[in-house]
Amino acid sequence: MKYRQLGKTGWKVSVLGLGASPLGGAFGPVDEKEALRTVATALDLGINLIDVAPFYGSTRAETILGKALKGTSREKYFLATKVGRYGSSPKDFDYSGARVVQSVDESLKRLKLSHIDLIQVHDIEFASFDLLLKETLPALERLKTTGKVRHIGLTAFPLEILKKMTSETRIDTVLSYCRYCLTDITLVRLLSHLKTRKIGVINASPFAMGLLTEKGPPVWHPAPADYRDVCARAIEHCKKRKRDLAKLALQFAVSNTDIATTLVGTSNAKKLRQDVRWIEEPIDEGLLSEVQGVLKPILNRSWLGGLENNA
Ligand code: NAD
Repeated sequence: MKYRQLGKTGWKVSVLGLGASPLGGAFGPVDEKEALRTVATALDLGINLIDVAPFYGSTRAETILGKALKGTSREKYFLATKVGRYGSSPKDFDYSGARVVQSVDESLKRLKLSHIDLIQVHDIEFASFDLLLKETLPALERLKTTGKVRHIGLTAFPLEILKKMTSETRIDTVLSYCRYCLTDITLVRLLSHLKTRKIGVINASPFAMGLLTEKGPPVWHPAPADYRDVCARAIEHCKKRKRDLAKLALQFAVSNTDIATTLVGTSNAKKLRQDVRWIEEPIDEGLLSEVQGVLKPILNRSWLGGLENNA
């Protein structure tokens, strides 16, 4: 496993991190024993960053992680979780100072931990700027002084809002998803801005949340039908050459050294072992340019989300 510096946190994180949304059932039913095995496998393979959120499986992912990490030395991993988002309807977002403080305590309890290494404001495109600046971030800063959280990060899908917030605040990390993968590389536009400010970059969803795997995306995936069709064509292209598009997608996502880590989501130990093997092999440049040709019609074309002004 290779490791890279995560901004100014002082941490060296594995280039592949474990994304725990599948532990909450985001990609299908979860076998708890297998999920526990997956976390143990991640640590065995040298993965030292685990990302979760109360939102994932309505807290189930955090609860499973709490079981999986019990007894593991705190030196072995960095745990990142989130505040602000608890579901998908408007009533499920709460970025108020009071809720943030309560949320951290609830996460600590579920995770059975005394501190969270990285607390991230979840999907800030659903929050008002004013609230983030006046309540959410000050509440997290105060939690830092109590030792309950160590570093503060932001997550979002739109990149402009990440740029704006990181220009106006002192943030340690940003998590961006589906923005540095085979279908979208717009995150590169933000990298020098983040590098100058020593903000650690976490790239999530190397398979574009399942679009770039043979199994395909889950039902809730926001990509429109024509977008999915193009991805399906890329999968077919690789299949004809007896290759797996997922392998290429993962190798591509981890290749940019200005990105500290890429979070891959799985609750399956075998898939995780495969992911780690894949990133240790060199990328097939010929296949990459063929696949980039197939995906060209949708490159950097994304879907909308969040409050209208924040998109
Ligand atoms: P992903 O792109 O990592 O895709 C997950 C899918 O890929 C799952 O169906 C999984 O079974 C499959 N997969 C994994 N390894 C495979 C292999 N070797 N072969 C075939 N299929 C394989 O999407 P993701 O899980 O959404 O993203 C990773 C993590 O990033 C999440 O779990 C979460 O922790 C984080 N994330 C955060 C946000 C946010 O904060 N807003 C958004 C998206 C993702």
